[in-house]
Amino acid sequence: MTDTDGSVAAPDRLIVDIVDLRRRTGSRRAVNSRLVLDDLQVGEKSVVDGVLTMDLVVESVTEGVVASGRVSAMSRTPCRRCLRDVDLPLDVDIHEVFEASPTEGETWPIETERIDLTPVVREAVLLSLPIAPLCSDDCVGPEPDRFPTGAVPDEEPQRDERWAALDELRFDE
Ligand SMILES: [Zn+2]
Repeated sequence: MTDTDGSVAAPDRLIVDIVDLRRRTGSRRAVNSRLVLDDLQVGEKSVVDGVLTMDLVVESVTEGVVASGRVSAMSRTPCRRCLRDVDLPLDVDIHEVFEASPTEGETWPIETERIDLTPVVREAVLLSLPIAPLCSDDCVGPEPDRFPTGAVPDEEPQRDERWAALDELRFDE
């Protein structure tokens, strides 16, 4: 993949060497780069072209290294009414700790004086993909005659059609 300005392709891994950082607690380094991951997808939800833009700071702390800042991407999710793709900017704030002896599910490993930010940003972005957006506030859906807009509660995600009968029971008065 080539960036629009023709520069070299973004890497598919982001590994930061922390030897210099670890010499002194409080040392910081900015990590501003792009990453392209090919597995940023959950069901119908994805990141456009898998492109992530990182604006992070890696800082040496007593127990290890902290990576914090923001990861930006363009998410693509089907509209919950008409199912057309909806592209929305996604900004994810992260704050993660890396340790030589990580705690499962809480902190990330430092391995041979390097940290791998790839799984960290992948997980943060996947967990932040929009759940059920609308292409526009007045989207009428695929068949407005059969499914009037007002019949779909705004806060409800798209449902399995098998539940439709239950919904009618619940909402009819
Ligand atoms: Zn729509």
